[in-house]
Amino acid sequence: VFVAFEGGEGSGKSTQSRLLAQWLESLGHPVVLTREPGGTGVGTMLRSILLDPATGDLSPRTEALIYAADKAEHVDTMILPALADGSVVITDRYVDSTLAYQGAGRALHVAELEPLARWATADLRPHLTVVLDIDPRTGLARAGEPDRIEGEPVEFHDRVRQHFLELAAADPAHYVVLAADEDPETIHHRVRAAVTPWLA
Ligand code: C5P
Repeated sequence: VFVAFEGGEGSGKSTQSRLLAQWLESLGHPVVLTREPGGTGVGTMLRSILLDPATGDLSPRTEALIYAADKAEHVDTMILPALADGSVVITDRYVDSTLAYQGAGRALHVAELEPLARWATADLRPHLTVVLDIDPRTGLARAGEPDRIEGEPVEFHDRVRQHFLELAAADPAHYVVLAADEDPETIHHRVRAAVTPWLA
Protein backbone atom coordinates (compact mmCIF):
# COMPACT_ATOMS: atom_id res chain seq x y z
CA VAL A 1 0.00 0.00 0.00
CA PHE A 2 1.31 3.40 -1.00
CA VAL A 3 0.02 6.51 0.81
CA ALA A 4 1.01 10.12 0.06
CA PHE A 5 0.44 13.18 2.19
CA GLU A 6 0.09 16.46 0.34
CA GLY A 7 -0.70 19.99 1.44
CA GLY A 8 0.71 23.43 1.94
CA GLU A 9 3.27 24.76 4.39
CA GLY A 10 2.38 24.17 8.03
CA SER A 11 -0.43 21.77 7.19
CA GLY A 12 0.97 19.09 9.50
CA LYS A 13 2.03 16.54 6.87
CA SER A 14 5.12 15.48 8.77
CA THR A 15 3.19 15.04 12.02
CA GLN A 16 0.40 13.11 10.32
CA SER A 17 2.70 10.87 8.31
CA ARG A 18 4.60 10.02 11.49
CA LEU A 19 1.40 9.29 13.45
CA LEU A 20 0.16 7.07 10.62
CA ALA A 21 3.47 5.19 10.48
CA GLN A 22 3.41 4.62 14.25
CA TRP A 23 -0.17 3.37 14.16
CA LEU A 24 0.46 0.98 11.26
CA GLU A 25 3.58 -0.37 12.97
CA SER A 26 1.56 -0.96 16.14
CA LEU A 27 -0.78 -3.08 13.99
CA GLY A 28 2.20 -5.12 12.79
CA HIS A 29 2.58 -3.67 9.29
CA PRO A 30 6.11 -3.11 8.00
CA VAL A 31 6.28 0.62 7.21
CA VAL A 32 8.65 2.83 5.24
CA LEU A 33 8.20 6.51 6.04
CA THR A 34 9.83 8.87 3.58
CA ARG A 35 9.56 12.32 2.02
CA GLU A 36 10.12 14.44 -1.08
CA PRO A 37 12.33 16.10 -1.75
CA GLY A 38 14.97 14.15 0.11
CA GLY A 39 13.98 10.54 0.87
CA THR A 40 17.30 9.12 -0.40
CA GLY A 41 20.98 10.02 -0.03
CA VAL A 42 21.10 11.84 -3.35
CA GLY A 43 17.67 13.23 -2.60
CA THR A 44 19.01 14.83 0.58
CA MET A 45 21.68 16.59 -1.49
CA LEU A 46 19.11 17.72 -4.04
CA ARG A 47 16.86 18.92 -1.21
CA SER A 48 19.53 21.25 0.08
CA ILE A 49 20.02 22.72 -3.40
CA LEU A 50 16.28 23.23 -3.72
CA LEU A 51 15.55 24.68 -0.31
CA ASP A 52 18.64 26.58 0.77
CA PRO A 53 17.89 30.30 0.40
CA ALA A 54 21.57 30.64 -0.67
CA THR A 55 20.65 28.86 -3.94
CA GLY A 56 18.82 32.01 -4.97
CA ASP A 57 16.67 32.03 -8.08
CA LEU A 58 16.62 28.93 -10.23
CA SER A 59 15.19 28.71 -13.71
CA PRO A 60 11.76 27.12 -13.19
CA ARG A 61 12.72 24.34 -15.61
CA THR A 62 15.94 23.65 -13.71
CA GLU A 63 13.96 23.46 -10.50
CA ALA A 64 11.41 21.09 -12.06
CA LEU A 65 14.19 18.80 -13.34
CA ILE A 66 15.89 18.65 -9.94
CA TYR A 67 12.57 17.64 -8.39
CA ALA A 68 12.20 15.04 -11.14
CA ALA A 69 15.67 13.63 -10.39
CA ASP A 70 14.79 13.40 -6.71
CA LYS A 71 11.62 11.51 -7.61
CA ALA A 72 13.33 9.03 -9.94
CA GLU A 73 15.90 8.15 -7.29
CA HIS A 74 13.19 7.94 -4.64
CA VAL A 75 10.91 5.64 -6.62
CA ASP A 76 13.60 3.37 -8.05
CA THR A 77 15.80 2.88 -5.02
CA MET A 78 13.34 3.20 -2.17
CA ILE A 79 9.61 3.13 -2.89
CA LEU A 80 9.38 0.32 -5.44
CA PRO A 81 11.67 -2.04 -3.49
CA ALA A 82 9.75 -1.34 -0.27
CA LEU A 83 6.40 -2.01 -1.93
CA ALA A 84 7.81 -5.22 -3.44
CA ASP A 85 8.78 -6.28 0.09
CA GLY A 86 5.21 -5.79 1.24
CA SER A 87 5.80 -2.62 3.24
CA VAL A 88 3.32 0.17 3.55
CA VAL A 89 5.08 3.21 2.08
CA ILE A 90 4.11 6.64 3.40
CA THR A 91 5.54 9.66 1.66
CA ASP A 92 5.41 13.24 2.85
CA ARG A 93 4.81 14.89 -0.60
CA TYR A 94 4.89 13.29 -4.04
CA VAL A 95 3.91 14.08 -7.64
CA ASP A 96 1.04 16.37 -6.68
CA SER A 97 3.45 18.75 -4.94
CA THR A 98 5.32 19.13 -8.21
CA LEU A 99 2.13 19.80 -10.14
CA ALA A 100 0.99 22.29 -7.50
CA TYR A 101 4.28 24.11 -6.72
CA GLN A 102 6.22 23.97 -9.99
CA GLY A 103 3.00 24.03 -12.05
CA ALA A 104 0.23 26.08 -10.50
CA GLY A 105 2.64 28.00 -8.25
CA ARG A 106 5.50 28.77 -10.65
CA ALA A 107 3.28 28.84 -13.71
CA LEU A 108 5.08 26.19 -15.70
CA HIS A 109 2.44 24.30 -17.67
CA VAL A 110 0.96 21.48 -15.63
CA ALA A 111 0.32 19.70 -18.95
CA GLU A 112 4.10 19.66 -19.56
CA LEU A 113 5.11 18.87 -16.01
CA GLU A 114 2.78 15.96 -15.59
CA PRO A 115 4.43 13.70 -18.20
CA LEU A 116 7.85 14.58 -16.74
CA ALA A 117 6.71 13.68 -13.23
CA ARG A 118 5.01 10.49 -14.45
CA TRP A 119 8.16 9.44 -16.30
CA ALA A 120 10.32 10.22 -13.26
CA THR A 121 8.09 8.06 -11.07
CA ALA A 122 7.60 5.24 -13.60
CA ASP A 123 3.92 6.21 -13.38
CA LEU A 124 3.70 4.83 -9.86
CA ARG A 125 0.65 6.36 -8.19
CA PRO A 126 -0.39 6.27 -4.56
CA HIS A 127 -3.37 4.14 -3.62
CA LEU A 128 -4.46 7.01 -1.41
CA THR A 129 -3.42 10.65 -1.23
CA VAL A 130 -4.35 12.56 1.91
CA VAL A 131 -4.57 16.31 1.25
CA LEU A 132 -4.20 18.33 4.43
CA ASP A 133 -5.97 21.53 3.57
CA ILE A 134 -5.14 24.80 5.27
CA ASP A 135 -5.35 28.49 4.50
CA PRO A 136 -1.74 29.50 3.67
CA ARG A 137 -2.09 32.52 5.98
CA THR A 138 -2.49 30.09 8.87
CA GLY A 139 -0.04 27.50 7.56
CA LEU A 140 2.81 29.88 6.84
CA ALA A 141 2.48 31.40 10.30
CA ARG A 142 2.82 27.90 11.77
CA ALA A 143 5.75 26.89 9.60
CA GLY A 144 8.39 29.14 11.23
CA GLU A 145 11.57 30.24 9.39
CA PRO A 146 10.83 30.44 5.66
CA ASP A 147 12.90 28.29 3.29
CA ARG A 148 13.50 29.31 -0.33
CA ILE A 149 9.92 28.42 -1.37
CA GLU A 150 8.03 29.48 1.72
CA GLY A 151 9.17 33.04 1.13
CA GLU A 152 6.97 33.22 -1.99
CA PRO A 153 4.00 35.60 -1.78
CA VAL A 154 0.78 34.26 -0.31
CA GLU A 155 -0.89 34.28 -3.76
CA PHE A 156 1.63 31.61 -4.84
CA HIS A 157 0.54 29.47 -1.90
CA ASP A 158 -3.13 30.13 -2.68
CA ARG A 159 -2.60 28.71 -6.20
CA VAL A 160 -0.81 25.69 -4.72
CA ARG A 161 -3.69 25.05 -2.33
CA GLN A 162 -6.26 25.38 -5.10
CA HIS A 163 -4.39 22.91 -7.26
CA PHE A 164 -4.28 20.24 -4.54
CA LEU A 165 -8.05 20.63 -4.13
CA GLU A 166 -8.61 20.30 -7.88
CA LEU A 167 -6.52 17.13 -8.08
CA ALA A 168 -8.49 15.65 -5.20
CA ALA A 169 -11.84 16.60 -6.70
CA ALA A 170 -10.90 14.95 -10.00
CA ASP A 171 -10.21 11.53 -8.44
CA PRO A 172 -12.29 11.04 -5.29
CA ALA A 173 -11.60 7.29 -5.16
CA HIS A 174 -7.91 7.94 -4.47
CA TYR A 175 -8.04 11.15 -2.44
CA VAL A 176 -9.29 12.37 0.87
CA VAL A 177 -9.21 16.06 1.83
CA LEU A 178 -8.99 16.80 5.55
CA ALA A 179 -9.21 20.18 7.22
CA ALA A 180 -5.77 20.71 8.73
CA ASP A 181 -6.73 23.33 11.30
CA GLU A 182 -8.08 20.77 13.80
CA ASP A 183 -6.06 19.17 16.55
CA PRO A 184 -3.57 16.53 15.39
CA GLU A 185 -5.27 13.60 17.18
CA THR A 186 -8.62 14.36 15.53
CA ILE A 187 -6.99 14.57 12.12
CA HIS A 188 -5.05 11.37 12.78
CA HIS A 189 -8.29 9.48 13.46
CA ARG A 190 -9.68 10.72 10.14
CA VAL A 191 -6.49 9.55 8.45
CA ARG A 192 -6.92 6.10 10.04
CA ALA A 193 -10.47 5.90 8.72
CA ALA A 194 -9.33 6.83 5.21
CA VAL A 195 -6.42 4.36 5.15
CA THR A 196 -8.21 1.37 6.71
CA PRO A 197 -10.04 0.27 3.54
CA TRP A 198 -6.69 -0.01 1.74
CA LEU A 199 -5.14 -2.35 4.31
CA ALA A 200 -5.44 -5.94 3.17
O1 C5P B 1 7.14 19.41 2.94
P1 C5P B 1 8.34 20.24 3.23
O2 C5P B 1 8.06 21.46 4.03
O3 C5P B 1 9.48 19.43 3.73
O4 C5P B 1 8.77 20.76 1.79
C1 C5P B 1 9.92 21.47 1.65
C2 C5P B 1 9.73 22.64 0.73
O5 C5P B 1 9.77 22.23 -0.62
C3 C5P B 1 8.47 23.40 0.92
O6 C5P B 1 8.82 24.76 1.05
C4 C5P B 1 7.70 23.16 -0.36
O7 C5P B 1 7.04 24.32 -0.66
C5 C5P B 1 8.78 22.87 -1.37
N1 C5P B 1 8.42 21.97 -2.46
C6 C5P B 1 8.23 22.47 -3.74
N2 C5P B 1 7.92 21.61 -4.76
C7 C5P B 1 7.81 20.28 -4.55
C8 C5P B 1 7.99 19.77 -3.25
C9 C5P B 1 8.31 20.65 -2.22
O8 C5P B 1 8.33 23.66 -3.96
N3 C5P B 1 7.54 19.47 -5.56
